[in-house]
Amino acid sequence: MTTDRTLIGLVDAHCHVDLFPDPAALVADAERSGIHTIAVTNAPSVFRHTQALCKDCRYVHAAIGLHPQLVRTHGRELEEFWPCLEETRFVGEIGLDNVTNDPKDRKAQRDIFARILERSASQGGKILTIHSRRAAADVLAAIGADFPGTTILHWFSGSATELRCAVASGCHFSVNPAMIHSKTGRALIAMMPKARVLTETDGPFVQIGSRAAIPNDVTGVVEHLASIWQLSWDAAKETVEANFTRILSSPRR
Ligand code: MN
Repeated sequence: MTTDRTLIGLVDAHCHVDLFPDPAALVADAERSGIHTIAVTNAPSVFRHTQALCKDCRYVHAAIGLHPQLVRTHGRELEEFWPCLEETRFVGEIGLDNVTNDPKDRKAQRDIFARILERSASQGGKILTIHSRRAAADVLAAIGADFPGTTILHWFSGSATELRCAVASGCHFSVNPAMIHSKTGRALIAMMPKARVLTETDGPFVQIGSRAAIPNDVTGVVEHLASIWQLSWDAAKETVEANFTRILSSPRR
């Protein structure tokens, strides 16, 4: 399906490269293919490893993150977050996850997310990839209407109303192979303004058949976008790349 298509310029805006068996090989592959990749991390203590892997990359960018579901176990690493934040424009995975019903956990998540947003805003021009499972309204309230930077809602699964609110707040959306296989995911994608859409894999969490999704697998997402936008595959790919390039060239503060 994809063998005759060039991978150069594809976008994987949310990939956990450090959770694959051979992160260095995955980074080298994405770089060689020319796939714009945001290499998210889940805790400050593992950021330096990914940062080193991406050091000489033009296409693969290391992001400093603290995953909401790890706040309980890794929240005390927040002090390590700040020096890393000075060294990269890319932030993630961060956000809120309301699958937990524990009020203490939810409060800790909200506090940490708010502090990361605040520091990112004060430095300006950051590019954030944000988790919002069962928490879209809370995430949008935390981001606010005029966030000075780029906010990308990764694997958005909120309501149609929340999606419209996210659009009004200037958010982008990164969509993945799992979303195009779900009816609600497809309905949300169809509502997203074309100029706000990016692609992602969320590998290795998203699977293609029985294997973890890798950056090349955004080809299938582009195929879906091409069909709903009624564009050729190449034109859909170019649209997504243009969206990403616009983000990269946005003011740094
Ligand atoms: Mn993720």
